[in-house]
Amino acid sequence: MKAPFVAIARHRIQTDGQGVTTLCGFYGCPLRCKYCINPQSFNEKTKTTAMTPQELYERVKIDDLYFVATNGGVTFGGGEPLLYAGFIAEFRKLCGDKWRLCAETSLNVPNEAVRVAAGCIDEFFVDIKDMNVDIYKSYTGLDNTAVTDNLKLLLSLVGSERITLRIPLIKNYNTERDRESSVDILKSLGFTKFDLFEYKIKEK
Ligand code: SF4
Repeated sequence: MKAPFVAIARHRIQTDGQGVTTLCGFYGCPLRCKYCINPQSFNEKTKTTAMTPQELYERVKIDDLYFVATNGGVTFGGGEPLLYAGFIAEFRKLCGDKWRLCAETSLNVPNEAVRVAAGCIDEFFVDIKDMNVDIYKSYTGLDNTAVTDNLKLLLSLVGSERITLRIPLIKNYNTERDRESSVDILKSLGFTKFDLFEYKIKEK
């Protein structure tokens, strides 16, 4: 089993959760966010590196001491890492429990991917965009029905402590009030950890 990667970035400190982490960015994303920060993750011209779980493990284990000493590990991003949940599950078998594995995901993926990821990822950072269907669709190009279903599924499988929901203020797409509404909906579902921020948009 090989998966395509667009980037491996070492020595990130307390960027996602705890400790020193290496970001492993997969190629491929179902969304087309208007202010996408990683368009190389779906651009057809992007040069990717295909690796097996074993090859990735060999490459990132150079930082084993840092990971273990700081309770850090590997953050899977992209693109959409849960498109490769089976790969991550194989990677977990190689690194064991000594590393902390995180995923940055939109959860706009099949249910089965969430079930697999729940069994091998320690902490999830979910990029919500906005809970309003129309706002979500105009910003990403897809609807968020799968996201809502997967949020409930993930919460039932891993509990709220292992999930941080990122909810941006998106210029020209949502308002403070929309964002408050998203938070209210998510609190009512049982989520407790939120990261509210504003997208920095470069004016052309
Ligand atoms: S989910 Fe991330 S990688 Fe995918 S289009 Fe949106 S910002 Fe870009």
